[in-house]
Amino acid sequence: MKQLKHVMRQITGLVVLGSLLALASCAEKQQAAAPAEAEVEKETIVWKLAQTWGTGFPIFGDAVIKMADMVNEMSGGELEIRIDSANKHKAAFGILDMVKAGQYEMGHSASYYWKGKDPNTMFFSTMPFGMIAPEQYAWFYYGGGMELMKQVYDQHGVYSFPGGNTGNQMGGWFRKEINALDDLNGLKMRVPGFAGEILSRLDVVVTNIAPGELYTALERGTIDALEWVGPSLDLNMGFQKIAPYYYTGWHEPATELQFMVNKAAFDALPGHLQEILVTAMQYAAYDMYARSYHDSAVNLASIEEEYPDVKIRTFPPEIIAEMKRVNQELLAESAANDPTFRKILDSQTAYMKMARKWTEISDYAYLKDNLE
Ligand code: CA
Repeated sequence: MKQLKHVMRQITGLVVLGSLLALASCAEKQQAAAPAEAEVEKETIVWKLAQTWGTGFPIFGDAVIKMADMVNEMSGGELEIRIDSANKHKAAFGILDMVKAGQYEMGHSASYYWKGKDPNTMFFSTMPFGMIAPEQYAWFYYGGGMELMKQVYDQHGVYSFPGGNTGNQMGGWFRKEINALDDLNGLKMRVPGFAGEILSRLDVVVTNIAPGELYTALERGTIDALEWVGPSLDLNMGFQKIAPYYYTGWHEPATELQFMVNKAAFDALPGHLQEILVTAMQYAAYDMYARSYHDSAVNLASIEEEYPDVKIRTFPPEIIAEMKRVNQELLAESAANDPTFRKILDSQTAYMKMARKWTEISDYAYLKDNLE
């Protein structure tokens, strides 16, 4: 990558040198020279970004707009990123392929959507019973997470970067209360990813339904329960009107979205634009985490006020214990067949064990005695 950057800088240098030589040979036309030089400096690189989300999608889409605006401002217009939503490209779950192919230089999506192509991608969104957001950010930036993510995505021709965190997601909306393991038997639930595999082994009938069809599916009884995100985004969907039990989370404790950049396109950028892009992506990601927390807090208050019949519940300990057992079983099965899976799992497990001791005597110790 460094070599390529070096070559690119040399090429850029040659272009500048070339234009200087041209200017020198036409010294008598000095009035014409200034605009020509300015043109070289102001040349705009235009990139396209494809996002999984539809036009105007709150929070997730806003993070992408923030990143693109920052890049444009910080680069003085040298790098412009144009955003295509799923309404335009019609391939919400084709982002990785499109960025890999160079059809788009960038993408915004979630790493666990590529689990079917490569199971190792799922580790970079969130894992059931895994790290919470501060622990996971620490792992990404200082605990080896970025290096492991690069290793996985190198095989797909893209660089992947954290793309915004939703914080802890809620366990979902249920039409009936879940009191025992038997209540899960035959329950039809929309839940994607690894959590879906866990619930499937607990006899839940697992489906994945596009966001736009979720409300109708729950209202008509096509499904009995669903998980989406949390108060930040669930309130707009209206689930609180038709499923009164809102369960706390276990399956997505720190869902991190993802910026993707085509490797060849990134490597060809001049160094200062690479730095601007990386900085803007990291800022937009962290900003989305704050925004998600804010919107969840505000919306939860309005759920409590406007929908007093909504009952917030936590799954009984026997269900949580069984989910944990099955989670371990499934992870061990995959790790046995794939050394990279084992390596990432070991890294996350060891890091969480270490970081959790700090979480326990800092945030947890503080919160358990200071909830009011
Ligand atoms: Ca979710």
